[in-house]
Amino acid sequence: MRPEILFPLFKPLTGLAGVGPRIARAITRLVGGGMDGDGGEAHIVDLLWRLPTGIIDRRYAPDVADAEPGRVATLSITVDKHRKPANKRLPYKVICSDKSGRITLVFFHGHGDYLTRVLPEGQPRVVSGRVELFANELQMTHPDHIGKLDEKEKLQSVEPVYPLTNGLSLKVLGRVIRAALKCAPDLGRDAGEWIDAAFIARQTWPGWLEALLAAHKPADEADLFPTAPARERLAYDELLANQLALGLVRLNMRRVRGRALRGTGELAAKVRNALPFSLTGSQESAVEEIARDQASDDRMLRLLQGDVGAGKTVVALLAMLNAVEAGGQAALMAPTEILARQHLATLRPLCRAAGVSCVLLSGREKGQARREIIEAIKSGRAAIAVGTHALFQDDVAFNDLRLAVIDEQHRFGVHQRLTLASKGRAVDVLVMTATPIPRTLMLTAYGDMDVSKLTEKPAGRKPVDTRILPLERLGEVTAAVGRALAGGARVYWVCPLVDQSETLDLTAAEERFDALKKIFGPITGIVHGRMKGKERDQAMAAFAAGDIRLLVATTVIEVGVDVTEASVMVIEHAERFGLAQLHQLRGRIGRGMDASTCLLLYASPLGETAAARLKIMRRTDDGFKIAEEDLKLRGAGELLGTRQSGMPEFRLADLAAHGELLAAARDQAALILAGDPDLTGPGKEALRTLLYLFERDAAVRFLRSG
Ligand code: ADP
Ligand code: MG
Repeated sequence: MRPEILFPLFKPLTGLAGVGPRIARAITRLVGGGMDGDGGEAHIVDLLWRLPTGIIDRRYAPDVADAEPGRVATLSITVDKHRKPANKRLPYKVICSDKSGRITLVFFHGHGDYLTRVLPEGQPRVVSGRVELFANELQMTHPDHIGKLDEKEKLQSVEPVYPLTNGLSLKVLGRVIRAALKCAPDLGRDAGEWIDAAFIARQTWPGWLEALLAAHKPADEADLFPTAPARERLAYDELLANQLALGLVRLNMRRVRGRALRGTGELAAKVRNALPFSLTGSQESAVEEIARDQASDDRMLRLLQGDVGAGKTVVALLAMLNAVEAGGQAALMAPTEILARQHLATLRPLCRAAGVSCVLLSGREKGQARREIIEAIKSGRAAIAVGTHALFQDDVAFNDLRLAVIDEQHRFGVHQRLTLASKGRAVDVLVMTATPIPRTLMLTAYGDMDVSKLTEKPAGRKPVDTRILPLERLGEVTAAVGRALAGGARVYWVCPLVDQSETLDLTAAEERFDALKKIFGPITGIVHGRMKGKERDQAMAAFAAGDIRLLVATTVIEVGVDVTEASVMVIEHAERFGLAQLHQLRGRIGRGMDASTCLLLYASPLGETAAARLKIMRRTDDGFKIAEEDLKLRGAGELLGTRQSGMPEFRLADLAAHGELLAAARDQAALILAGDPDLTGPGKEALRTLLYLFERDAAVRFLRSG
């Protein structure tokens, strides 16, 4: 239960005076939020976490004659005369002056009624806006503010600037934020300070409410820096909540004693015999590390990190077989249906060789078929269950789940990981990821997980010849693809995400498919996220079988699709993709015998950074190097960037700037939990409030006493 003191912050925006559904919608578009099922509308807190990105300094208040053109000024003037335009296309002018000189206020499409009301002739007024010199006359076009003389002090201030969106002006947003700030409770006073007393003193940070108010009221540019005390404090709060939540999750995982699990090696030996290759050294080490975790009576919480194509699946299978040999079950969960099916296709023949039964459960299994699968999982007849998040569903129960493998690709959150783990007693957890996560990001996403890394590539991989071409050369590219197809090649043609919209995304892909099909005929196929599961499988199966040899795809092929014969990939608008994503995509080729080629097509002109990024792709196929370079060229936030990524998105902390704070937050969280793992001691109320403030409610559930 959220503490009452936070209620005002979690009210919907429409709870604020003057905010109707339209403004609330616009703000929600801007700030996101509204997670817990109240119609998707952002909460007040979501708005308050949006800090200003700039300032307008209105303190400059010269006499009119001294006003510097180009500067924002706040002027006290007398309204002399309204000059209505002769026709609508001309601006409406209001002549004003002070004792020193004259200035004209200019309004395009000005409404005379309104303007005579706010600027009555003969009256003194204060106006604030940018002063310009036009035809040797001082002008102010559309003043930002017009007020009476007694409002001068209010207007002559530093105004925070926020990012805006369609249908939302700075004036309106500013007003809403001011109203929201008025609702903010004094958490430090009423719930107590959650930051360690000595630490906050050393940092000379303000209290929470003071920090929030200050962050929204920057006095100068320096107050906008991430290192400004108010911002640092708020960032630290967020990091502390994150680290505390992860710490609690971890404690909870470890609190339940693990069950020492020792395989017999019998099934694993059969699978190894059936493999057409031997494991790489780093696969062997990972297998060993995992087996050691399983054998210990602590629970396993391990991350298996390895580049695309590094061979994580086999490692996971051997771990799952340990569980099966010990009489238990294992589950492998993938973020998408395609990937789940891919895993099944890889695992099934190997499982068959070992005589282990393996079932698939995704959203697509329905009715009787689904009931049978669930029954097999429940009775233990199915030793291994592969699936999507359908495995989480309430009616899925295991006979004895011992190991949960989660093929993460960053699409699951900590919470989901735990749901699967809660389907058994002391379940070991292995998370697989292909994204090379820099250490700092790793801490925020996984806390202190143990890590196994696959550093070697399986033998026989050939580097992919990567070329960068402007889209104008599409004709040549098509011709080259034609030659490759004539030589028997299998080709992926990837169309990008347009504007985050799946519909547009699809249109682009469908248009490309139509055009290519006209040229290459029935060997052309398409696969995209909107297709029904069956159709998608059919398309993929046809590509794997070679009936389709040119496959137009949206990014759905990014994850996991494994057709070793594919040797050419064309990526349109490569400049729109993240490097990690390009790397994942490119990892789909270069797996077989043939030399492979990847053509990155970009729309010109290409900016300097974009060009540098694409060049990295040409230079190296090492996922870690690519991520490192990408991190250098862009911010940490962007690297794993998207909302669906499952990486925690910080709203106040910026890991590029606040890396040291993260370390401090981690230490403080560890110290707190070491002394008071259930947050029952002194200061507990403050810490619990902090967790709720940053919506780490799930973590609070792990506290033994509510
Ligand atoms: P990822 O790490 O991207 O999940 P996969 O597990 O899908 O990689 O493996 C990619 C491909 O490499 C698969 O076809 C798999 O059979 C093959 N593979 C895995 N390990 C080896 C190895 N040691 N030698 C050769 N091929 C391997
Ligand atoms: Mg994989």
